[in-house]
Order: sequence, then structure tokens, then C-alpha cells
Amino acid sequence: MAPMRTRTSMESTLLSVRLKAQIARIGPINVERYMDVCLADATAGYYPSKQPIGAAGDFITAPEVSQVFGELLGLWAYAVWQAMGSPRPVVLAELGPGRGTLMADALRALRRLPGFMDGAKVALVETSPALRRAQEDALAGLGAEISWHQTIETLPPGPLIVLANEFIDALPIRQLVWREGEWRERCVRIAANGGFEFCDGPALPADSLRRNAELRQLPEGSILEVRPAANAVVAALAARAKDAPLAALIVDYGHESTECGDTLQAISRHKFADPLEAPGDVDLTAHVDFGALKDAARAKGLAVYGPKQQRALLLELGLEARLERLCRDATPEQREALIAGAERLVDPAAMGVLFKALAIMSNTLPVPPAFENTE
Ligand code: SAH
Repeated sequence: MAPMRTRTSMESTLLSVRLKAQIARIGPINVERYMDVCLADATAGYYPSKQPIGAAGDFITAPEVSQVFGELLGLWAYAVWQAMGSPRPVVLAELGPGRGTLMADALRALRRLPGFMDGAKVALVETSPALRRAQEDALAGLGAEISWHQTIETLPPGPLIVLANEFIDALPIRQLVWREGEWRERCVRIAANGGFEFCDGPALPADSLRRNAELRQLPEGSILEVRPAANAVVAALAARAKDAPLAALIVDYGHESTECGDTLQAISRHKFADPLEAPGDVDLTAHVDFGALKDAARAKGLAVYGPKQQRALLLELGLEARLERLCRDATPEQREALIAGAERLVDPAAMGVLFKALAIMSNTLPVPPAFENTE
């Protein structure tokens, strides 16, 4: 393991040096640019150069906690496919599939159900070559035709079902700071000690954001986060929905409606870290603003349901029955692990409440399963 860490630290140092050279040349860069370089730089970015997910990595996600998560999302896809009129073939896509665990569990569930897998095309939107390889391994032998894509735009045509878990939180955010009646872009510059520090950048032109803030009389220094890349995802989905039915289930951590606050966070080895230290070496994410996602989808003419807490979503999709079934054939140790994993997914103190699901659908489709009681 040691040589790997040495190489990674060196790449991270190189990324720091490059970022500093860029800032020296052009001045402070905004948080969005900083986050984008740290996460996506082709050679030293976090996702392209690391295997971040799992007990040995930096963070654990729901599909890595319990197989039930991917299985239940597979069942959701099946019900939605039936509501579409069981089109064949259907495209089942995942955005940011990580190690491929969610899709593998979903496909195992879908293979037991009639029709869906007949010619189904599995399409993965993934930019990291390292994670693409992990996905290939995870999905080998599951009998599905799989293709990889850099963006949603190149997904195969036809009826489309999209799953995305902890994908939006990894897309870069802009942070705007409220100062003396104006929004300023929050930027990153070089500090006196040679490290990075935040600073206020240029003021934004007066627009609806300004009015919004004045109405709410925000305290000085309030931070508003916006995520252009998430709007681009919604726009790409909306473009697809013009030609064929679309259903997307987006699960992530975040807040129900737009709120002010600094949610940029770094995680390394399962602990919080400083987002400005070791660029490219730590995971950077920020809360998903489900309110903004909903507004963006509605503005594009799509129907939106939720957000619904992960706990309620999984219970309504049949978590307990599935768990019981799995426990029947399990050893006592396996049973304990199965129960602990499922509890973690729904426990309000763990992932049950902070994580939420939003369904974005063609407006010709009925309300999707588990969203009947949401607006
Ligand atoms: N869904 C997985 C992984 C979440 S981590 C899970 O639940 O375990 C975020 C994933 O999104 C990684 O696979 C990362 O490589 C991918 N990713 C991040 N930014 C991306 C982008 N702009 N386009 C495509 N994939 C991206």
C-alpha cells in the first residue's frame, strides 16, 4: 500500500503546484473551478486517479452498505418500465456508478422478473477510467449489454430509466457570498502561508438573486450554493424526454428546499478533512439542493415527485420483506450483517433522513412507485 500513497501524494502536490501557478497567473479561481479541477483533473483529479469508495477507500455509499439498496432500486425500475408499457428494448442507465455495485444488484433483481432484460441496454455514465474498470468487473457475467458514456447526451436512444446515487453531490458547486447588499462569487486564492484560502471575488450583476436575498434579509456573509452542472443534467434528461419516455430516480444527501449555508465538505479515510488541503487527494462534495433540482426539472416541462426520505422510499419499496427473505437462507453471522446494513440505510441517525430521493419523469407517465403520497 505504501508506494501507492507516495505516488498519490506526489500527484496531489503536483496538482497544488499547478493550481497555484494558475491562480498566480489569472487571479483567484471560483469554488466551482477549484472543485472541478480537484475532482476531475485527468491525471491527478480525485475520481480519475483513486478508488475512493469502500471500507479501504474514503467513503461508503448505500449500495456498498447493503445489497438490498440496489435490489429495491431495480424493482423500482421494473415497475416504472411496466408503467411505460413494458417497452423492449429499454435503456437502463446509471449516472456515476462507482464500483458498479448498485447496478449489479439491480440487474440480479431484474433478471428474476419477466421481460425487462430482453434486449435491455445498460448504459453507464462514468468519467473515471479506474472506476469504469471496476464496473466492468462487477457487471461481468450478468448477461447485459453494457456501454460506457462520458455524458447523458450519448446514451442509446429509446425509453430510458436512470438511476443515480450520490452522483449529483459530486458535481461542482458555485458559492455566492452575501456582502453589503450584493452577491459575490466565493473564490480560492493563495494565502500568506503558501496554502489556499477562500476570498470574496467579483460582485454578481444585480438580478433575481439579489432580490431574493433582500426579501429574506439574509445576514451578512450568508452563502448560497448553486450547481450549474446539475441543471445541465436535468436539461439533458429533458432533451431525452422529448423523444421517448423517461424516468429518473436521483438519490443523494441534501436539503429539501433552497437554503443558505456552506456545505462544501472534504472526506478522507471516512473522516472530515479541510477542502483546501491536498487537492485531488480528498473527496469533495456538497449537499444537493433538491428544491433547485425540482425547479429546474419543472422549468423543462418534466414531472417531479419528492424529495422523499431514503427511509420511507426503501420501506415502501419492500425493504423488510426483502430482508426477511435474505435472512431465511443466511448463517447467523450473515443475518447480523444483513440486518445491520439495512438498518443503516433507514436509520434516521444514519442515512435514513439526510438522504433523499427525487423522481424526475416524463409528464405522460403515472406517479412512480413509492411516491404516491408526495406532491
Ligand atoms: N453511485 C456510486 C458512486 C458514487 S461516487 C455509489 O453509490 O457507490 C460518484 C460517482 O460519480 C463516481 O463513480 C464518479 O467517478 C462519478 N462522477 C463524478 N463526476 C462525474 C461526471 N461529471 N460525469 C460522470 N461521472 C462522474
